[in-house]
Amino acid sequence: MRALVYNGPRQVVVKNMPDAKIERATDVLVRITSTNICGSDLHMYEGRTSMQPGRILGHENLGEVIEIGGAVDRVKVGDRVCLPFNIGCGFCENCEKGLSGFCLTCNPGNAGAAYGFADMGPYAGGQAELLRVPYGDYNCLVLPRGAEEKENDYVMLADIFPTGYHATELAQVQPGDNVVIYGAGPVGLMAAYSSMIRGAALVMVVDTHKDRLALAEKIGAVAIDDTEGGGIERVMELTGGKGADKGCECVGYQCCNMHREEVPNLTMNNLVATVKATGRIGVVGVFVPEDPNADNKLEKRGQMAFDFGQFWFKGQKIGTGQANVKAYNRFLSRLIEKDKVKPSWIVSHELPLEQAPEAYQKFDERRKGWTKVVLKPGK
Ligand code: NAD
Ligand code: ZN
Repeated sequence: MRALVYNGPRQVVVKNMPDAKIERATDVLVRITSTNICGSDLHMYEGRTSMQPGRILGHENLGEVIEIGGAVDRVKVGDRVCLPFNIGCGFCENCEKGLSGFCLTCNPGNAGAAYGFADMGPYAGGQAELLRVPYGDYNCLVLPRGAEEKENDYVMLADIFPTGYHATELAQVQPGDNVVIYGAGPVGLMAAYSSMIRGAALVMVVDTHKDRLALAEKIGAVAIDDTEGGGIERVMELTGGKGADKGCECVGYQCCNMHREEVPNLTMNNLVATVKATGRIGVVGVFVPEDPNADNKLEKRGQMAFDFGQFWFKGQKIGTGQANVKAYNRFLSRLIEKDKVKPSWIVSHELPLEQAPEAYQKFDERRKGWTKVVLKPGK
């Protein structure tokens, strides 16, 4: 099969790889028809992780079931399925509670399992023609008839739409809330969209990319361009000096004064400054430090200094972590099915798999207009 393979920092290549196949009776084999590039892929692409060369990337996958293992009951050959980026077993203590992002079976002793990820198990990614889905009955979201027509909407259920929603759940966004979101990448834009779905009164999105901020405005958010600073003051002004009720971190890694030079615009500090006292902060951005010289990247992962003193004084609350996609993807898919939401507004490029290396480069450079790429294997 053709697949996108990681070869080292900023080197990916599309090449022939052995076909994915059923390995266990609970597996499902999917012919991938849509697979997105994600900001999370960039942690691997840029060489910030322990990702080994030769592995297939891709965790935002949708396709058609072409084979099922002997123990699969619910999912049928021919079903169109969207796959949560997290892989869960469905029966461990965490999956039982709906915390499928922290499955204890699929990546024991670690923080959950995912396709095509460093440190999240050995699973191959789906930026390929075929994908093996473990525990298929649990992990496949079977899509309604006619899903092909809205494929670019449904594929957002693999990650960024539920992840954006998760940010608002961690922050407990409620009707009438004023919400500030740091990051107008795909995840931040989906957090803004989710805030609207949850009835927020005011949604403010902070970034420096004009084209991404324009998308935030298009869905009714207030865009705050922080290129020349002033973002904090603008949020305070828009909230009558009180600060936002809730805030979401949708940027992730930024090096900080613990590693290198001071970063004046650390999103965590900006959140502490712009969320009101006792307000809630949801952090879905992944904190992997960009430190090519770190002798032990894993040990240093995510260590950062932020203003804990101010956070404590303001009595703020915080929620963090990978999105438990299965907790959200079914109700969000119903909203897509009934035309209540259309997350495909985020898609900027639909490209054949063969063009993935170029797409990675442009998305990594945050080139103007490259917001979200959907790859179409087999086209
Ligand atoms: P992205 O890199 O495309 O977008 C990040 C955006 O943040 C960019 O537009 C960038 O300009 C902006 N930014 C950078 N520094 C900023 C600052 N100081 N203030 C405001 N904006 C700033 O990535 P994405 O796909 O939107 O993903 C965002 C983060 O979410 C990544 O860290 C990704 O790994 C993470 N993520 C988490 C989960 C989860 O389950 N928790 C799932 C998917 C992605
Ligand atoms: Zn993703």
